[in-house]
Amino acid sequence: MINVTKTFLPPQEEYNAILKRAWYAGWITNRGALVVELEEKLKDYLKVPNIIATTNGTLPLQIAIKALGLSGEIITTPFSYVATTSTLVWEGCIPVFVDIHPKYLTIDETKIEAAITPKTTAILATHVFGNPCAVEEIEIIAKKHNLKIIYDAAHCFGVTYKKKSIFEYGDISTCSFHATKVFHTGEGGALFTDSDELNDKLFYHHNFGHYGPEVFQGIGINAKMSELQAAMGLAVFPYMKTILETRKGVVELYKNNLKSLGVLKLRKGTQWNYSYYPVLFDNETQLLSIQKLLNKEGVFPRRYFYPSLNLLPYADKKPCPISENISLRVLCLPLFHDLDDNNVLKICNIINRGL
Ligand SMILES: *Cc1c(COP(=O)(O)O)cnc(C)c1O
Repeated sequence: MINVTKTFLPPQEEYNAILKRAWYAGWITNRGALVVELEEKLKDYLKVPNIIATTNGTLPLQIAIKALGLSGEIITTPFSYVATTSTLVWEGCIPVFVDIHPKYLTIDETKIEAAITPKTTAILATHVFGNPCAVEEIEIIAKKHNLKIIYDAAHCFGVTYKKKSIFEYGDISTCSFHATKVFHTGEGGALFTDSDELNDKLFYHHNFGHYGPEVFQGIGINAKMSELQAAMGLAVFPYMKTILETRKGVVELYKNNLKSLGVLKLRKGTQWNYSYYPVLFDNETQLLSIQKLLNKEGVFPRRYFYPSLNLLPYADKKPCPISENISLRVLCLPLFHDLDDNNVLKICNIINRGL
């Protein structure tokens, strides 16, 4: 069976050797040596001034909304994973959907201003499939209207835009280190901000508000990454180069063998991370028939992202024709470190024959 992704598992003895350190220390959470070491390594690798490791990639979104004191309406994208929207509603904010660009698949920055009302407080957009939003244009709009910017950068581990980590754009960025993502800690994630002041706030928010054992700086929640998660991250980390190179190989092979399908257009200036391989069919009927052919051969791509989030039962259902149309036609093909060439070619053949 070939799934859309397969978790990279480091050699077990390497993971155990790192875990042993937690055993000897008798310390398996509360920001032990492993979490601190992982944060230092990632800060260096990603070239970012601040990072806070978290227990998943969803709590950081909630914490970002809290830390920026957001309420009212938040402009967001309908084309993302459900967490982008559900977090807003969970935090008592109203998601206001702005349609996406048909090629980049990120929020259409030219349509943002029309959606701003006196109740708008922020923009929460997703760098979908690791493809950056129009970050510079969005920043201009946000400044003009005094709005905060959060980027759901769950897909973006290692992505740079104009030679800068994508995590440095916006007020706060979040990432996911879930087992299905390019870099992972089983479950996990991170918060990023260039502002030291905001970073302090994010830090106490992610740890109950603690400022030392007996003093509380403010309200908080528990979003700490455990030592067990950090051990997985430290064991996976040395393989990032291999993971990215092998994924790149798969992407090149798809590109060269699937000629008649629409593909993601990367924004110029992007150093990408080969996180997903979305293809666009002509219509949903075609997608479903190809999906069926693939399933019959044991290949299980995923409809990332379907449905369009403006159609969620708790969303306003305001039409977003481009996002709705794309989500009916998009399929993410299997892409992972040890997907071999023969299997990629087999997948291409099934698709090409079915078209
Ligand atoms: C994976 C993902 C999340 C959630 O991350 P978790 O680590 O699973 O909590 C949020 N947003 C997007 C766009 C994602 O793909």
